[in-house]
Amino acid sequence: MPTDLTSGGSVRPITRWGTPVMHAPTREVTEFDDELHELVRDMFATMREAQGVGLAATQVGVDLAVFVFECPDADDRIHTGVVCNPEVELPSGKDRRLDAGDEGCLSYPGGYQALSRPDWTRCTGQDAEGNPIELEGTGFLARCFQHETDHLNGIVFGDRLSARSRRKLDEQVAEMAYRYPDDWPISPKRAAEPATAASS
Ligand code: ZN
Repeated sequence: MPTDLTSGGSVRPITRWGTPVMHAPTREVTEFDDELHELVRDMFATMREAQGVGLAATQVGVDLAVFVFECPDADDRIHTGVVCNPEVELPSGKDRRLDAGDEGCLSYPGGYQALSRPDWTRCTGQDAEGNPIELEGTGFLARCFQHETDHLNGIVFGDRLSARSRRKLDEQVAEMAYRYPDDWPISPKRAAEPATAASS
């Protein structure tokens, strides 16, 4: 039975959009060793601290093709795991149905915009021991697999938005920026500012 890598890690700061590592393709994972396992443990700890459903290595500043997830599918069943060297297969023809749900990113926190993506995907790659794996994702899990694999190819979901949606996303993130310290989630998210009372 493979080692449980979902616990025992340390929280790392989350890398933000604009940092070069987030906008370049990553290196293939070739060593399934203790160093990789430590990274995976830290990624689980970081994702959970930030209350995310997926996290790519680039989001902790590491240019390796690996992501972790803990995400509900279309039936609200939570799936937890790690994928190295992921590739996503998307449906075509009559099997291709788009889901226009909201998407957000821990590396651009505080903003959400609708983004149409296929509602099913097959994600293939390797587990943390180097064994081949094949996972099917429905609902939010399908979105997660596509979002995280994009990250490892240097693509952020803002790159897939229309100019108008991207502008709205940028505005939402700018408005919420005060809540996210530079080393978040090591330092916690700050409380929302109370609405300014009307002066009389
Ligand atoms: Zn993201």
